[in-house]
Order: sequence, then C-alpha cells, then structure tokens
Amino acid sequence: MEKKTTKILIVEDEAKLARFMELELKHEGYDVVIAENGRIAMEKFHEASPDIMLLDLMLPELSGIEVCRRIRKVSDIPIIMITAKGEIMDKIAGLDSGADDYITKPFVIEELLARIRAALRRTAHEKTNTENDILSLKGLTVDIARRTVMFEDNEIELTKREFDLLAYLIRNKNIVITREQILNQVWGYDYFGETNIVDVYIRYLRTKIDDRFGVKFIHTIRGVGYFAKDEEENS
Ligand code: CA
Repeated sequence: MEKKTTKILIVEDEAKLARFMELELKHEGYDVVIAENGRIAMEKFHEASPDIMLLDLMLPELSGIEVCRRIRKVSDIPIIMITAKGEIMDKIAGLDSGADDYITKPFVIEELLARIRAALRRTAHEKTNTENDILSLKGLTVDIARRTVMFEDNEIELTKREFDLLAYLIRNKNIVITREQILNQVWGYDYFGETNIVDVYIRYLRTKIDDRFGVKFIHTIRGVGYFAKDEEENS
C-alpha cells in the first residue's frame, strides 16, 4: 500500500508567510492546506483531516487560542502555535489551550521543520505505545492506557502535556530530574534554552493536584530540577 503523505494545515493570515511555509513544506514532501483566518481554519480542519496543524495566534475571526480549544474537543492532532516575539502570556495561554508546542516569529525554516518532525514522531510513538501501566504515588493513580488521573476518588483533568509530565515524574519517583531531562523526555527535544516552560507546567500540575488536595507530591530542588515523592505520613 502506498504510504499516505502527511498533510499539514497552515493557519496564518500573513499571506507572504503562509506562502513561504507552503513552498518550503511542499518541497519537503508534505501536503499543505492553508487557511487565512480562524473560521476558515475550522472548515479546512474538518474538510481536510490534517495530520498536524501550524496555528498562528493572532488571527482574524477566531483567535488561534479559540481555534485550538475547539479542535482539542474533537481531536488530538499535534498543534504548533506560531507566536510573535514577546507574546509570552499568549504562548502560555496557547499551550494551556492544548497546543503541543510553539515557535516564535521570525523563525528559520529548519527550526519549524524540526518541530514538525518531533511532533509527528511523538504522535507515532503514542499510537504504537500499547503499555497499560498504572502508575501510582500515595493516593494518586495514573492510568497510562486510559490517560486518566485520580487522587483518591477524585478525577483530575489534565491536558496532554500535563499528563505526560506527571507520568514521567511518577515513573522516576524519588529521583531528581533536571529541566533538560524533562524537556527531552516530555517535549522530545531541546527547547532552545526556553526551559522555563517546564516551570510553567510544574505550576499547572501543582495547582491541579498539590494545591487542590492539600498534598505535596512535586518537590523542587532549586537550580537543579524536580522530583515526585510519596507524601510523607503526618507531615
Ligand atoms: Ca497573524
């Protein structure tokens, strides 16, 4: 059977940039579909069933964040947000809305290609991953196959990345893990120095688990990294 070509949906209202990405990606052998605003993005998404999406943040009609949220309700395809320089809060909002990764404009095409390959590799890896481990820390249960997290009888809703980070921490419980290790294992490659993304996600997990249930699973070793630890009795 012929191997299906990977289809990329580019959502970008700057026509020149969209055209540039289209040419480069076609040159790499990808199928490319373009949408120039958020509303068209949703239409093209349903019409074309892309394998991966490059999503500009600032868009007419529907913002990139809103597009991302809507797609996340029905699909877990990789989404790479395209943000302008300095939109730190927007980046965080983008990741929080379910994007897998982001790239900052202006970028070199090699970086974009590397991120696309990494995102596609992770998806392929997840699809072939048939493990059905149940990981646990005291009171906390992570079901890898069903991708659910429970604290005692309470279900905890996590985004995909939060889940992967938590699973990685618990797999390596009681071992200190550096930010770089987390980036490599959870994000899949070096993050070009922006390791603070790990801190952002640790904060999300703490809010959703430690703060919510008054427990302390995630510990910080200042200047080094993090580790997950069974909560001590009577502490
Ligand atoms: Ca834009």
